[in-house]
Amino acid sequence: MFDRLLEPNSTDVPDCACGKAMRYVKLEKRSEDAAVKHFQCDCGREFLLMVWPELTFSPAAAAA
Ligand SMILES: [Zn+2]
Repeated sequence: MFDRLLEPNSTDVPDCACGKAMRYVKLEKRSEDAAVKHFQCDCGREFLLMVWPELTFSPAAAAA
């Protein structure tokens, strides 16, 4: 079920443990190739999901 959530540009949101759909808050870059999607629910819970915007493997980068 997280497959689409893992796409950086996806607008899908996860369901909170309370049963409601969470709100997408922001995408925070953590490093050159990783970012964290922040989701929040009205009940106060937060959900962080690590995503890799540069998921397409680059041979050039690998060789560097
Ligand atoms: Zn909730």
